[in-house]
Amino acid sequence: MNAALEDRLASAPLVAEKPSLIGLSRPALADALREAGVPEAQLRMRAAQLWHWLYFRGATDFAAMTNMAKGLRELLAQRFTLARPEVASEQVSVDGTRKWLLRFPARGAGRPVEVETVYIPEEGRGTLCISSQVGCTLTCTFCHTGTQRMVRNLTTEEIVSQILLAREGLGDFPAAAVAPGAIVPGEGRLISNVVLMGMGEPLYNFDNVRDAMLIAADGDGMALSKRRITLSTSGVAPMIPRAGAETGVMLAISLHAVRDDLRDELVPINRKWPIAELLDACRAYPGLSNSRRITFEYVMLKGVNDSLAEARDLVRLLSGIPAKINLIPFNPWPGSPYECSGWERIEAFAEVVNRAGYASPIRTPRGRDILAACGQLKSASERMRKSEREAISGAA
Ligand code: SAH
Ligand code: SF4
Repeated sequence: MNAALEDRLASAPLVAEKPSLIGLSRPALADALREAGVPEAQLRMRAAQLWHWLYFRGATDFAAMTNMAKGLRELLAQRFTLARPEVASEQVSVDGTRKWLLRFPARGAGRPVEVETVYIPEEGRGTLCISSQVGCTLTCTFCHTGTQRMVRNLTTEEIVSQILLAREGLGDFPAAAVAPGAIVPGEGRLISNVVLMGMGEPLYNFDNVRDAMLIAADGDGMALSKRRITLSTSGVAPMIPRAGAETGVMLAISLHAVRDDLRDELVPINRKWPIAELLDACRAYPGLSNSRRITFEYVMLKGVNDSLAEARDLVRLLSGIPAKINLIPFNPWPGSPYECSGWERIEAFAEVVNRAGYASPIRTPRGRDILAACGQLKSASERMRKSEREAISGAA
């Protein structure tokens, strides 16, 4: 571990001081209130009030909850916290993209950990890219996160907290002013879209990701549209239909190659669930239609997967699946073994895809100057022992 990180982590609290109420389901919230002594007949009402404060208004202090008796507020404050995660650093790109390095306290036997969350403002929308794990068990060869060993899964609280922290930092809660100097969309919510495209493989932390997405989409709280929440997976085929059934959010697949031999190399999970099996799982994703399509992501790697023959194979492979195609110019990171395809090649590839009826498929790289673009995220948190990770899963 480097010395600076060691210093930072040494100054962080070793364990969370009080449990947080963030990330609990409504019944779990009611249980917490019951333990705090709230009478049975009031539980539902109090849980609904809390939900509104936590997720609609973004309260971080029980004292603000003026429709609850002072005694109850004090009791809750003694037992629970609503604190946001600690911001270890915040960087803003020349294009307005914003990256937070967030530090979460140790859970159980573990150490404090750090993950990255990225905000990408565009003309008509603001997208928050959140992480689901610290590091990743997978080792996709073009991805910076893939070079970091898996440290641990994030808890539901930690996943939800990334959204709350960003909304607070930008001024996206009712009655809040937009943060001075922030580049944000011209109209609508500052964070209108959430993508699980940060660090980690969301389908390897499914329960926590699902619970967090259900909180984000809950109509009495943050009320993000499920059509504007996208879960991206490298291809955990058996979990795909279940993810759709239990979350109802949109799906993106990191395809990146049209042949198994190449995909085995680029996205090694392909050796377990090859392309045909992955696409079968996609066909079984519930609720697909022309207005509800799966996004297939394809990173453009010079001389590796970017021939026009591969573009033609790509559209052939996806025929019959309601799909969007998203070509991602490769974002380099220190020591990365690939180059991004040339712009002419990307355009020619996109042209083949366009002619097959897929609209505007090239994703503009954002925040490259602060290593905030797709696949550039990585934190310095170190691997935990398996027993430590298991202790946390139990505690989550
Ligand atoms: N683990 C999930 C989600 C995180 S990655 C997944 O793999 O889908 C989000 C997207 O960025 C994925 O499509 C991923 O393949 C892509 N990506 C990773 N590294 C990249 C890089 N260096 N340049 C461009 N895209 C990259
Ligand atoms: Fe993990 Fe996704 Fe990166 Fe692959 S691309 S290493 S699955 S974060």
